Amino acid sequence: MSLAYFLNKTLSFFHCSQRRTLLVLNFFFLAVISTSTASAQQLPSISETVANATPMEGYFNLYWDEANGKLYWEIDKLDTEFIYQISMGSGLGSNPVGIDRGQLRGTYVLRAERVGPRVLLVEPNHRYRASSDNPLERQAVEDAFAPSVIWGFDIVAMNGDSVLVDSSDFFLRDARNVVGTLASRNQGNFTLDKGRSAFYLENTNAYPENVEVEVMLTFTSNNPGGLVNSVAATGNSVTLRQHFSIVKLPDDDFNPRIADPRIGTIGPNIQDFGTAIDEDMQVRLVGKHRLEKRNPAAAMSEAVEPIIYYVDPGTPEPIKTALIDGAAWWNEAFEAAGFIDAFQVRELPAEADAQDVRYNMIHWTHRRTRGYSYGGSVMDPRTGEIIKGNVNLGSLRLRQDYLLGQGLVPAFEYLEDVADNNSESVNMALDRVRQLSAHEVGHTIGFPHNYLSSSYGRESVMDYPTLG
Ligand SMILES: [Zn+2]
Repeated sequence: MSLAYFLNKTLSFFHCSQRRTLLVLNFFFLAVISTSTASAQQLPSISETVANATPMEGYFNLYWDEANGKLYWEIDKLDTEFIYQISMGSGLGSNPVGIDRGQLRGTYVLRAERVGPRVLLVEPNHRYRASSDNPLERQAVEDAFAPSVIWGFDIVAMNGDSVLVDSSDFFLRDARNVVGTLASRNQGNFTLDKGRSAFYLENTNAYPENVEVEVMLTFTSNNPGGLVNSVAATGNSVTLRQHFSIVKLPDDDFNPRIADPRIGTIGPNIQDFGTAIDEDMQVRLVGKHRLEKRNPAAAMSEAVEPIIYYVDPGTPEPIKTALIDGAAWWNEAFEAAGFIDAFQVRELPAEADAQDVRYNMIHWTHRRTRGYSYGGSVMDPRTGEIIKGNVNLGSLRLRQDYLLGQGLVPAFEYLEDVADNNSESVNMALDRVRQLSAHEVGHTIGFPHNYLSSSYGRESVMDYPTLG
């Protein structure tokens, strides 16, 4: 039903004495409709709109309009799913608050849908599905569980099937929910001050299969909590960088694996309404990197593309080497699975951005007090394919382990023992950091804790040992 038809039908219910006024109104509405239709047809071209902007060409093209502080996003792949990943380009520095540099926060599959003069970013619901040949059965499940529309843009220019939107407000927002995290830790009521927020262009760029955008956001409060006051330069004005990766979805050649309940694995859990009555509806997928043998027939083969993990180049020595050594232990596991040099660990090149989704990262994470280390990954929620592994290792743990070592060695009697005792404690702390590097990388390649291994000689690096 068109809007004009609807208005005419509505008008027909009014009394005749009101007819004249309503007819005028009707013409007014029709005039508005025709004007908006005309303006949609007369949108400027993309090249005209971004003529003075700096282009960043890649999976999606971005255009930085320096004069107006706007970032335009050219959406040339409507109705195509992609990954939208939120992470932290910088941290608060407080372990109890838990906003760390290099931290991942939220993986979304989104699709841009055009409706008239607008584009909606729709998150389809991949947690429920029906693996049926019947499209109506699949649609019934799709319509039964809510998707999420996470943003709406006005189209500002277009060329054929490509539309241009001003993405500034979409990116310059608290997508990480820093405000909620600070409130939940009783650190005050903060609000985002847009006047003190801006794009962080150094880490904003487009590549053939991913687009990276970073923003610097300032949160203000009249009542900042003690933890915030103890770490921020000025507690009532906290500036943090949030990072967004827009990533092409992997192709369909990945072979998902169903989890075996006898082995702990981390991965998506999907409820499938297309299974038979006597089958389990829960599809537990294994999270894993894509790894293929260059020579599939050989017992041992190099990989088509090895898995490469990168260590934070800001890590001091001798810790950096210890992190590389520990993480590289995993290559033995891949060797046992028939791969040669399939798991490699290197230092991240200085010019690379650690938040770029193409780099599996091991971050050396500084905070005011000792705290957690953790590992996670950016995973395709449809298949369990790991796109980026990401570790945060708390830097102060090393110093705590050193002090524990100092407490364990016997008191020295002669001055020359001081150096020996000290180096033993340093070595123990470095041993522990190697183990921790391997352990957290284990989480990023799909393994949870193995508490059982403490009963058979602590064979698994995924054991959860205590120092007590
Ligand atoms: Zn763990």
